[in-house]
Amino acid sequence: MNIHKLKKFLEESNQPKFRLEQIKKAVYQDGVSDFSEITNIPKDLREKLREEMNILSFTAQNISGAEDKRSVKALLKLRDGNLIETVLISPKLGDWSVCISSQAGCPLGCAFCATGRGGFKRNLTAEEITDQVLFWKQYLNKNSSVALSCHDYVTSSPEYGRGGKLNNIVFMGMGEPFLNWENVEQSLKTLIDPELFGFGSRAISVSTAGLPEGIEKLAAEFPQINLALSLHFPTDESRNEFMPINKKYNLEDLRNALRKYFLKCNRKVFIEYILLENINDSREDADNLIKYLKSIGKLQLLHVNLIRYNATSDEMKSSDSGVTRELKDYLSRSGISVTIRKSLGSDIQGACGQLAGTRRR
Ligand code: SAH
Ligand code: SF4
Repeated sequence: MNIHKLKKFLEESNQPKFRLEQIKKAVYQDGVSDFSEITNIPKDLREKLREEMNILSFTAQNISGAEDKRSVKALLKLRDGNLIETVLISPKLGDWSVCISSQAGCPLGCAFCATGRGGFKRNLTAEEITDQVLFWKQYLNKNSSVALSCHDYVTSSPEYGRGGKLNNIVFMGMGEPFLNWENVEQSLKTLIDPELFGFGSRAISVSTAGLPEGIEKLAAEFPQINLALSLHFPTDESRNEFMPINKKYNLEDLRNALRKYFLKCNRKVFIEYILLENINDSREDADNLIKYLKSIGKLQLLHVNLIRYNATSDEMKSSDSGVTRELKDYLSRSGISVTIRKSLGSDIQGACGQLAGTRRR
């Protein structure tokens, strides 16, 4: 929702000051989908708001739930016609995380990523970023009261989302957040503002393909927000091949960026590592990864997430579960804190890296 527009509208219609607070609470905390639901404001104001404003800056084109009932993906159409995707994921029962996009498409073109392959359309506005969270908040509300006004879009059971709380926000959808810093910064402020969404900083994670200046800005302005670094390859040679951004900022640049980050924040950083069969999953790769992580100098503040590759092309395959477990144990024995991250939503192309902004079902 565009708060500036709302403020202006309320001022121009000579509303008392507390109206703004009432509306903000209803929209951001209660998750109303329509101004008509805000029953503690006068009826004529509700009607005028409906004529003047929209709560969301997009419309849902399609909503699809995964078989396991633990993730739901929405394809959203922005006002200019661009499409983005956002995913609601339940890592554990009753607990929901929202994975949001920061750009329509992505210019960084990582070889394993569906978003990257589709090219770059534009940066999202701060409103478009935070509205994805509002969208899921409304969705969870509607599903728990079974009043599904967006029921038409739901391609599978309306059970999804029933009775859960939205606890975490991850910037792991489409796009590179640090290439759209101005709007991401604004969206983070809105997400942690106690008068708006009121999320704790620690409930929010920002994932980057490795832009040192972005890491620095996050540390300076939001030292409590979690940082995830999509490392994926332990040598410049392999990283250059699959992640073109590495030619601009290589592993040494990232090491320096992380050292600076630790000086400022002293907080755990999540190292994301997709496992690709015969590409980055050998013992030698593991040794290179260990060597690199140790060279950063703060091993106790690094946590590696081994991620199953969600197939986006036939050229690459995910490492099998045996190799994955072996690698995990090897890293653990070498003193690395490591977990295998479960992949949710791969059957709805709603898992990481599968967000392409197209209607595929
Ligand atoms: N651009 C940012 C954030 C969005 S991508 C970044 O790259 O970090 C979110 C995460 O999904 C990143 O860790 C990314 O590397 C990962 N990812 C991309 N394609 C994937 C795929 N096919 N399978 C699994 N993870 C993937
Ligand atoms: Fe962009 Fe991240 Fe996908 Fe790379 S992995 S293309 S940086 S969205």
